[in-house]
Amino acid sequence: MVKQTIQIFARVKPPVRKHQQGIYSIDEDEKLIPSLEIILPRDLADGFVNNKRESYKFKFQRIFDQDAKQETIFENIAKPVAGSVLEGYNGTIFAYGQTGSGKTFTITGGAERYSDRGIIPRTLSYIFEQLQKDSSKMYTTHISYLEIYNECGYDLLDPRHEASSLEDLPKVTILEDPDQNIHLKNLTLHQATTEEEALNLLFLGDTNRMIAETPMNQASTRSHCIFTIHLSSKEPGSATVRHAKLHLVDLAGSERVAKTGVGGHLLTEAKYINLSLHYLEQVIIALSEKHRSHIPYRNSMMTSVLRDSLGGNCMTTMIATLSLEKRNLDESISTCRFAQRVALIKNEAVLNEEIDPRLMIKRLQKEIQELKDELAMVTGEQRTEALTEAELLQLEKLITSFLEDQDPESRLEVGADMRKVHHCFHHLKKLLNDKKIFGNNTVSNTVSSESKDQDCQEPLKEEEYRKLRDILKQRDNEISKNKLNGR
Ligand code: ADP
Ligand code: MG
Repeated sequence: MVKQTIQIFARVKPPVRKHQQGIYSIDEDEKLIPSLEIILPRDLADGFVNNKRESYKFKFQRIFDQDAKQETIFENIAKPVAGSVLEGYNGTIFAYGQTGSGKTFTITGGAERYSDRGIIPRTLSYIFEQLQKDSSKMYTTHISYLEIYNECGYDLLDPRHEASSLEDLPKVTILEDPDQNIHLKNLTLHQATTEEEALNLLFLGDTNRMIAETPMNQASTRSHCIFTIHLSSKEPGSATVRHAKLHLVDLAGSERVAKTGVGGHLLTEAKYINLSLHYLEQVIIALSEKHRSHIPYRNSMMTSVLRDSLGGNCMTTMIATLSLEKRNLDESISTCRFAQRVALIKNEAVLNEEIDPRLMIKRLQKEIQELKDELAMVTGEQRTEALTEAELLQLEKLITSFLEDQDPESRLEVGADMRKVHHCFHHLKKLLNDKKIFGNNTVSNTVSSESKDQDCQEPLKEEEYRKLRDILKQRDNEISKNKLNGR
């Protein structure tokens, strides 16, 4: 088990207009935890809600400034998470920030240059490269891509290509099993055996994501997209399978409702986003407070889907994307504040191992065959499942002569064959249950002496034993009565 708080990183987007200085500074002293200081210009500081502070300091694991390359982001943030996913742990990376701050650029990447590839394609590349290198295990990879918009889930990997709006895509719903595990109904998992296949799926999903977005309905800024890599691995010959999931999450824009409040339809959407991010915040707050037993995951689809990533069995990383231009400072401050709370959440990641029953059966069958072969070698006999008719008859004859034998030392010798021993017991039981047998003295005597016999291969069941003892007692009484009478 790995206990770890959610890792938080900050990434500052290059400004649209260059040379805006003095708004923030990054303190990255090797010995100290890096911190980002946001400095409010005087004119803003005066009017800023509730306070007159001029600067705000926030600590992050690392802060990536405007010039940080996609490669650097991948190496420092995503690669360690992908590494633990390859080991069998769940991982999540989510980008949080206002619209335009670089979430999609960070998670998916820019389309213009190859070097603009974001975390998803680079992670796929890395994972497939590692899988190829590691021949000690057998891996299976599946991809799913979910978009959540207005509390509805949509499967972005619908191959029909006919979607002209999100509503055309298959609707995904949440099912919860009795163990409170979340299942996503209608979300397809597509197997990808190569990096190329996986990239094609990403492309298909992004195409569906774009088609569904029209200028009138800018779903992408208001929806959450969760790209998931499902990885299973097992060692050859083993029945233990490891499952790990890596969620790469592009959250909706975190801006507040006042900024998007345009009225009518758009306002409804904005309210929804705020609602869903508001629920995320509530979950984060509940998790960061000690002794809270109820965490309100169920309030929204996104928090339900990401339940394990937040306060659960997952190694989770958050990237706070910041657009540190003057007009965005208040949003940037709230993004950083959110990140500080997230950093308090502790997760406990465990290896997700399970026994595959089909593989277990196969292994046991093989073991049985090997044992049978071994037995055949020792006994010189080929052993089948059941005794033959002739063998059964032979046994029953043995039982009869054993029962008829008056010698108290006599034995029922069937050899070290459990099938025969079991059959003898069954047959004796049958005889005992047969009412006629009660008239026969020898039966009870010999059977009970047999039950005490050390050579007996299987102890009698308590009930059988008690029954036999009663019969024996009764017979003893009769014998002594007869003896008395005979005198
Ligand atoms: P969001 O998804 O948060 O709304 P985007 O990722 O779409 O924001 O970014 C908005 C714009 O800024 C896009 O055109 C994107 O290419 C650009 N951009 C974002 N981050 C960077 C960066 N680090 N370097 C260069 N361009 C960026
Ligand atoms: Mg985006």
